[in-house]
Amino acid sequence: MRCWVCGAAAEGVCRFCGRGVCKAHARTRAFLFEAWEQGERLRGLAVEDALHCGVCKIRPDPIDLEFLRQGGELS
Ligand SMILES: [Zn+2]
Ligand SMILES: [Zn+2]
Repeated sequence: MRCWVCGAAAEGVCRFCGRGVCKAHARTRAFLFEAWEQGERLRGLAVEDALHCGVCKIRPDPIDLEFLRQGGELS
């Protein structure tokens, strides 16, 4: 795999979009990998410095996923 930005050999893969990135172009950002409700509060576990390619855009706001329930058996 090659770096999405410069074409050099990729050192890792973006945690968010799957693009390959070399060390020079690798960025880090927090990645939430688990969330659950604890009492009244929503708690989450996050990786503080997950690999990010710097190319893909992460939406600052949550998106509505209710459409996933339509026609499905998700509870
Ligand atoms: Zn690169
Ligand atoms: Zn990415």
